[in-house]
Amino acid sequence: MGQIRRLDLGTGAARSEPDVGDHHHLVCARCGKVRDVHADHPRPELPADRRQGLEGADADVVLSGRCEARAGAAR
Ligand SMILES: [Zn+2]
Repeated sequence: MGQIRRLDLGTGAARSEPDVGDHHHLVCARCGKVRDVHADHPRPELPADRRQGLEGADADVVLSGRCEARAGAAR
């Protein structure tokens, strides 16, 4: 059975994540579309002395922006 992560990206809908590989998310603030992006740069790491006792602190990187309007698309 594959592992599925559930992720709240601030779009109002929980997202089921079949892809548990190391990736980040691009979220459009306008239309809410979520895209996976496989990024080479590492996730941010919180120094141990700032985790306030939280074990296994893991970060999800969500980049917010607006996707480009498609050429010819109605506005
Ligand atoms: Zn969009």
